[in-house]
Amino acid sequence: MYNAGGMWTSLIMIVLMLAIFVVPAVIIVYLVNKWINTKKQNQETQVKDKDIILSLANHSEIMSSLEAYCKGKDLKAGLISGIGAVNSATLRFFDPQTKKYVDKTFSEQMEIANLTGNISMLDGKVYLHLHVTLGRDDYSTIAGHLLSATVNGACELSIRKIDKVLNRKFDPEIGLNVYDF
Ligand code: FE
Repeated sequence: MYNAGGMWTSLIMIVLMLAIFVVPAVIIVYLVNKWINTKKQNQETQVKDKDIILSLANHSEIMSSLEAYCKGKDLKAGLISGIGAVNSATLRFFDPQTKKYVDKTFSEQMEIANLTGNISMLDGKVYLHLHVTLGRDDYSTIAGHLLSATVNGACELSIRKIDKVLNRKFDPEIGLNVYDF
């Protein structure tokens, strides 16, 4: 005879077991993994007076990570170049007609074939101007002004410090934050 009560009891037992053991285990593994990732630090080494090699932590966001680095080191002017890999990037394209940026996000694994740009100051804050060329898995490339990107693998940067404050200001005619020497 079909025992509906027994089936329900078994189902409830399975759900209870999942709730008691599996769900907490998944949450613990997730939290431990997250904690390990936050413990990963950027690495830097000064190779010459003005030259720094900086390896950004895996899974870090490039722009915010670099901004924090510059702020921490009181680095107000410099030149940046680098290579690495990301799994997500938002690029911008400036339209001089509208004087506005058009943003596009690419969520896939890509090589940083080239990252190049500079560090300066705008309204007393660190201002990064970076452009990037990203290689896709079919070996084609996309490129643009970098708004944000998440490291997935490595991000190896070389920074040349400039012993001068390089200021910027917004030029309403162009629509961009341009150098103001
Ligand atoms: Fe740009």
